[in-house]
Formats: sequence, structure tokens, C-alpha cells
Amino acid sequence: MGKENDKVCLFCKRDDETVPLVQLDYKGGSYWICPQHIPVLIHDPSQLAGMLPDAENLQAG
Ligand SMILES: [Zn+2]
Repeated sequence: MGKENDKVCLFCKRDDETVPLVQLDYKGGSYWICPQHIPVLIHDPSQLAGMLPDAENLQAG
């Protein structure tokens, strides 16, 4: 579960005052990521381990 008002990029922790944020709904929680880090989510989600639940299992290969 995302914390309330924790609207920052998963990866770089910048908020929506600094960068546009894209909402991710995942495992019943809401997460945010900035456009700069969407490629990380797409291409190397294991880098998000510890930031997103089970990120290490998202690797598409
Ligand atoms: Zn970011």
C-alpha cells in the first residue's frame, strides 16, 4: 500500500511539483513513477525491488 500523500516517483522520489508523475495501480496499492523512470519499470523492473512489491518477479526477460 502506498502511504497517503506519498506521491513521489518510486525510483527518484521526486514529487509532482518537480516532474510529471504517472500513477501505477498494483497489488491493490497506488504508486507513482516519473517519465524518466518508466523505462526502468519496462525494461529492468528488478531495479525496483524494495520499492514495488515483488518487483523482482516482474522481469519479463
Ligand atoms: Zn523518477
